[in-house]
Amino acid sequence: MNNTNEMTVEFKSIAQNEGFARMVIAAFMTSTNPTLEEVSDVKTAVSEAVTNSIIHGYEGGEGLIKINAKIENRTLYIEVVDRGCGIENVSRAMEPLFTTKPDEDRSGMGFSFMEAFMKEIQVESEPGKGTTVKMWKEIGVNKHQFE
Ligand code: ATP
Ligand code: MG
Repeated sequence: MNNTNEMTVEFKSIAQNEGFARMVIAAFMTSTNPTLEEVSDVKTAVSEAVTNSIIHGYEGGEGLIKINAKIENRTLYIEVVDRGCGIENVSRAMEPLFTTKPDEDRSGMGFSFMEAFMKEIQVESEPGKGTTVKMWKEIGVNKHQFE
């Protein structure tokens, strides 16, 4: 089956939109016929990226967060974009347990979860300009043998 689709959604940088982002991405990916586990993995990865934009990118202040998502057959591609403070050292930020907010109960595991739940992630960031997290996942790759 040829399955291609694309969507963009933009919302305010407030905590209640973490749940909104999770629901939007879950609804968008239904056409790929995902397992519950795949949906749950993608929701977790997206909510980690959106939470990071809210608490780190915009430091809890005002801003807009954009999600661009694309489906091409079994491949789901997602971008989470903010125009917040950016990250000075991306590879250090992506190390497990690295956090700039240890005092706020942050464990520094957000990027590690995104990497664990998605096939690939890439982070592009510029201090003062913002951050884009790009993520890929193959949906239903182990399932076609039963179809
Ligand atoms: P946790 O996700 O476990 O609650 P955390 O958010 O600190 O803790 P990560 O999500 O792995 O851990 O992010 C690591 C660090 O990268 C953050 O502490 C922050 O300094 C930086 N960071 C991540 N996303 C952004 C962003 N969108 N804008 C600016 N800085 C970011
Ligand atoms: Mg985080």
